[in-house]
Amino acid sequence: MPNLTNFLQSGLQESFFNLVLYAFFGVAVFLSVWVLLKNKWRWRRIQPNNEQRKHFFRHDILYSFGSILLAGFLTAIITLLDQLGYMKLYWDFNTHSIVWGALQLFVLILFTDAYFYWTHRWMHHPKIYRWVHKTHHKSTDPSPLTIFAFHPLENLIEFLPFILLPMLIPIYWPVLFLWQVLDLLNNVVGHLGYEIYPKNWVRLPFLKYKTASTHHNMHHEQFNGNYGLYFTFWDKWMKTEIKDYTDRFDAVYKSK
Ligand SMILES: [Zn+2]
Ligand SMILES: [Zn+2]
Repeated sequence: MPNLTNFLQSGLQESFFNLVLYAFFGVAVFLSVWVLLKNKWRWRRIQPNNEQRKHFFRHDILYSFGSILLAGFLTAIITLLDQLGYMKLYWDFNTHSIVWGALQLFVLILFTDAYFYWTHRWMHHPKIYRWVHKTHHKSTDPSPLTIFAFHPLENLIEFLPFILLPMLIPIYWPVLFLWQVLDLLNNVVGHLGYEIYPKNWVRLPFLKYKTASTHHNMHHEQFNGNYGLYFTFWDKWMKTEIKDYTDRFDAVYKSK
């Protein structure tokens, strides 16, 4: 039977794991791209006229520590709820149909994308913004150090699907992990500060619906517009895509 000591232990272990993730995907990626590749990749900088601002880095690292701890305990809640029998997570692939096994990651990503778009727009409401989302927007020129820089309330809001969805629909454990990995990678690319998607990406059929690095970077720079996470279709549909998104993407390749 789960007890408080086990829960605390599990929360601290998950927090330590998050710290390792931040050390690699936040700090090491930052050092590789913003320091080592700084000159070689100068042409890839999405905001080339901005100097690197150290106060953004300090702020982002500070808030990331809070997120590392909070997300660690939220992950421990998933394990706890599973032990208590509230989760529909399963290890045996044959428990559910092969179709659901193959489709669920796609469904989860589509759901997360819609959930992020609408909660994100809500967090930009003038009455909500400064209490929840302002922390993440301190960096108007984001870097990989920004990936975990959230107010605890925002952290909670964005983590909720990882807790609630496995309670409502059957999810294969490895898919839950993969979903979290893709979420992290998309987060890193969105805050990279450098465009790494191939030339003409924003004009390619189908592929243009996947957000390039420039997409979320412009959101940090201009605040209003480009609210999407993985895909551009909510922004296109709701007419919230920043007008010169494709031009700014092209500008990176023109500067090469
Ligand atoms: Zn925002
Ligand atoms: Zn961001």
